[in-house]
Amino acid sequence: MKPATVQKTVSCQPFLQISCTDCGHSKVWSEEDLAYHGIAPETAIDELGKHLFCSRCRAQGGLGYNLEIIPRWSRPVEPWLRRAG
Ligand SMILES: [Zn+2]
Repeated sequence: MKPATVQKTVSCQPFLQISCTDCGHSKVWSEEDLAYHGIAPETAIDELGKHLFCSRCRAQGGLGYNLEIIPRWSRPVEPWLRRAG
């Protein structure tokens, strides 16, 4: 039996928003950002949660594995992304 859908990989999507459902911490990653953290472009998006964890929850003694991954086509302008000057 063949799978109904082809599994999407990190390289299918220009940006991925990774949100922590525990603390609400959210960040948009590009393929380059993910590669910097050791995530290969051929990694399935569904598998990403196994490779990542929420650093904020970890810092507070939690596991930080309750991540929600949302595909995005552009990087939203968030206050934490603005650069001085
Ligand atoms: Zn968190």
